[in-house]
Amino acid sequence: MDFSALGLGPELLQAVAGAGYVKPTPIQEQAIPVVLMGRDVLGCAQTGTGKTASFTLPMIEILAAGRAKARMPRSLILCPTRELAAQVADNFDKYGKFHRLTKALIIGGESMSDQVALLDRGVDVLIATPGRLLDMFERGRILLTDVRILVIDEADRMLDMGFIPDVQRIVGLLPKIRQTLFFSATLGPEIRTLADDFLMNPKEITVSPEASTAPTVEQFLAVVDEIDKRETLRHIIRVENVKNAFIFCNRKRDVAVLYRSLTKHGFDAAQLHGDMAQPARMEALGRFKSGDVALMVCSDVAARGIDIQGVSHVFNFDVPIHAEDYVHRIGRTGRAGMAGRAFTIAVPEDGRHVAAIETLIGKPIPRMEIEGVPPLDLDMESRRRRGGKGGRPERTDRAEKTARPERTDRPEKAARPERTDRPEKAARPEKAARPDRDDRRPATGSRDERRGDERKSDTRREDRNRGRRRGRIDELGIGEMLHADSVVGFGDHVPDFIQRAVPAARVAVARGDE
Ligand code: AMP
Repeated sequence: MDFSALGLGPELLQAVAGAGYVKPTPIQEQAIPVVLMGRDVLGCAQTGTGKTASFTLPMIEILAAGRAKARMPRSLILCPTRELAAQVADNFDKYGKFHRLTKALIIGGESMSDQVALLDRGVDVLIATPGRLLDMFERGRILLTDVRILVIDEADRMLDMGFIPDVQRIVGLLPKIRQTLFFSATLGPEIRTLADDFLMNPKEITVSPEASTAPTVEQFLAVVDEIDKRETLRHIIRVENVKNAFIFCNRKRDVAVLYRSLTKHGFDAAQLHGDMAQPARMEALGRFKSGDVALMVCSDVAARGIDIQGVSHVFNFDVPIHAEDYVHRIGRTGRAGMAGRAFTIAVPEDGRHVAAIETLIGKPIPRMEIEGVPPLDLDMESRRRRGGKGGRPERTDRAEKTARPERTDRPEKAARPERTDRPEKAARPEKAARPDRDDRRPATGSRDERRGDERKSDTRREDRNRGRRRGRIDELGIGEMLHADSVVGFGDHVPDFIQRAVPAARVAVARGDE
C-alpha cells in the first residue's frame, strides 16, 4: 500500500516523501485511516515500528482545520519520558512543516516560564510528561477542557514508572467527548483495564513485536568474571572499528560508574540515565547525535525511544533481565539494512537470562573469547539476580527531584587501603558484584538451600578472583570496596557504614581462631 491510499492530504504526503518514506509501516497502514475517521485506537506496538507517525500524521490532518485558544490546547500527547516527548515533538516538526500548527513541549527539568509563554499564545498540540503537566494545571496555567484528541504513548512504561495515577487524574480533567489513541508495547490485564477506562469502542491494532533480531546485526557473547567486564569492554572497543555505540547497563548507578571508568581510560563517552537533570540529558544526547562523542553509556529507560540512525555497535555491559530488552537494545544498530555489531558481556550467573534471550531470538549467540581475559562458562543453575528493572523503576519525569549524589563521587571510600598481611581476606568478592536487596528475584527452594547456593557461588567467584584483584583495583580505582582485616561484620551483607574497626584480638575471638 502507498501513503496516498491512507487519506492524508497533499502537504502531508509531501512531508512524508521528504522524510524519505516509501511505504507506510503496518501500524501506519492500519491506524492512519481509523484515526482519520475519528475512532479511538488501542495500538499494541513497540518503538521502532513507526507508531509515532501513525498518530502524528492523522492528527496533523485533523488539527489543520481550526485554531487554538490561549492556554487551551486542542490535543494532548502524554509520554513517559522527556526524551520520548521531545522526539514526538520533532516528529510534529518533521511532518507538519507544510502546516501552520503550533505545539508546546511541557516536560520537567526545563524553564517553566518559557513553557507558560508558549501556552499563553495557544497551542494545537501539547506534548507532555504527566508530572510537569499536572504542575502546570495546579498553577492554573493551563485548561484542558478543549482537548479533542488524547494520545497516551507507551502506556506500559507509564505503568512501570508509576505514572498511572497522574495519567488518570489528567484524563479526568479532559472532556468526555474526545478521541483517544492509546499505545502500549504490551497488553497485559492492567493495561487492558486502563484501556477500558479511557477508550470508547476502540479499534484494536496489534503489530507483532520484534522477537527476532535483524540479520544485519552480528551478535557475540563473552562470558567473563565480573571483575573482567570493564577490561573486556575496553578490549572490544579498541579492536572493533567503533564509529558510535550504545553501551547498556541494567542500573543507573552502574551507568555512572562505567561512564567514569571509560572516560578515565581515555574513551570519548557520554552518559544518559534517569537521575540526570534534563539539560545534562539533552546535552549528552545532542553530543552523541552530532558525533561529538562516540560512546553513549545508558540505561534502558533513559534510552528508550531514542532514534539515532547509523549506530555501528551496541554493547550490553549487563545482560538484560527481560529478554525483549535484548532485542530492543541491539535493534539500535543494523537499522535500514546497514551492518551492525552487538556484543554482550555476561558473567556465569547470567546463565538463565542468556538462555531466555536465546530462546526468544531462536538461536544461540555466538561465543567469543577476549585476549588476556579468562573465558568462563555460563552457570545455568544460578538464581542470582544481577540488577535490572526489578528494583525501583526510574521516574525520569521527576528525576531532578530525586537526584541523589552518585556513590562514585566518593572515591576515597572506594579506595579504602587494604592490609597486605592477610591477602586471602583482600580477595573477598567485590561489593559491586552483589545484587541490591531490592533487585533480587524471589528465589525458590528453602531459605537455607538458597543461602547454601549463594555461598557456593560466592566461593567459586572468590577462587577465580584471587591473585588478580589487587592489580585491577589499582588500575581502576573506582567502584571496588575492600575491608581492612580488623573490620568485622555479620557476613557479607553488612553495609559499610555500620561496620567498625575492632582490635585484632577480638577479631580472632569472633572467628574462633585458636
Ligand atoms: P517510531 O516507531 O515512531 O519510533 O519510528 C521508528 C523509526 O522509523 C523512526 O526513525 C522513523 O523516522 C522511521 N519511520 C517511520 N515511519 C516510516 C516509514 N513509513 N518508512 C520508513 N521509516 C519510517
